[in-house]
Amino acid sequence: MDNIPFIDLKTQYNKIKEIVDKSIIEVLESGQFILGNKVTELEEKLSQYASVKNTITCASGTDALVMALMALETKPNDAVIVPSFTFVASGESVVLAGAQPIFVDVDEKTFNITEDAIKKGIETAKQNNLNPAGIIAVDLFGQPAEYDIINAIAKENGMWVIADSAQGFGATYKNKKTGSLADITTTSFYPAKPFGAYGDGGAIFTDNDNLAEKLKSIRVHGYDHQDKYNNIRIGINGRMDTIQAAVMLEKLKIFDAEIKSRQTVADTYSNELKDILDTPYIEEHNQSVWAQYTIKIDADKREELKAKLSEKNIPTACFYPKPIHMQTAYKNFLTAGELSLSESLAKQVLSLPMHPYLEQDILEYIITHIKEAV
Ligand SMILES: *Cc1c(COP(=O)(O)O)cnc(C)c1O
Repeated sequence: MDNIPFIDLKTQYNKIKEIVDKSIIEVLESGQFILGNKVTELEEKLSQYASVKNTITCASGTDALVMALMALETKPNDAVIVPSFTFVASGESVVLAGAQPIFVDVDEKTFNITEDAIKKGIETAKQNNLNPAGIIAVDLFGQPAEYDIINAIAKENGMWVIADSAQGFGATYKNKKTGSLADITTTSFYPAKPFGAYGDGGAIFTDNDNLAEKLKSIRVHGYDHQDKYNNIRIGINGRMDTIQAAVMLEKLKIFDAEIKSRQTVADTYSNELKDILDTPYIEEHNQSVWAQYTIKIDADKREELKAKLSEKNIPTACFYPKPIHMQTAYKNFLTAGELSLSESLAKQVLSLPMHPYLEQDILEYIITHIKEAV
């Protein structure tokens, strides 16, 4: 078997090549390269798709988080509770926005933030004379976090909630798509995400019109939409490229079919492997978009399995080998006590090839070799 791709973007492109090429050429011929009609059209379509009032596209998932924190007016004395077992940008954005991240632990089955962890985070904030201002929940590997519980704790404590759904756009929590499950939801169009562009991009979703107005201003240096050269707040350059919007408009048309294929791949893996491996746990009320299909295996056996599969040209990946609080740049930030689950998960997780175009024979080949190896 030739090298199997971990994520296959080429097959997807070949499928939509004609319409995407045409759409990109239209942008080139229009001379409109930043924002513009296609970006506005994409924002409208995404609002419809996620059943949310406002979508503000931007330049990346990281910018989406930073802009959200800026719109919420985080202050230096504000603590923001963030799970440690996630991609670095979830915590990095808090530091960039000038607030204090407090890293907390996650659930060992869903890998998402828990009620207990948030409560410990709030305690830690108070012990350090910080104002517990908000929570960033992450929909890790494509599964929504527990928003009913998270929103209730936030409300009790006068905090806001940002849903970092960089990996979870298109997923469902209690029959609702991600986008309106928190005060603000952010996502990423990084090519390897379930809803990826052909370059960088991102989006912010909110039902709050006031926050939406602010976010549009922050996206363009904090301008006043009535008086363009009078900047009324600090902003950034967070605009989306028109070419990426053209790509995303076409990709949205095949997105639901892709989610379905991802589910089929995940079901096949789980049915075949559940008796011999610790396969992913999805809550009954959740539908994941399977940004990753991630198993857990004893730390001392992970390298061996990885090596054996690699010999058969089957790629695997460890997301994430170091929780944020253990990374060099983040060692001096606060944690809510010991984050033992984050630390042990980092040693146990292994993600298998996952994308909508994984063919049955390749899937069988991967499963056969996993069974042989364990
Ligand atoms: C990818 C990712 C981001 C950042 O998105 P970019 O578009 O790469 O800036 C933020 N949070 C999580 C959980 C991610 O997976």
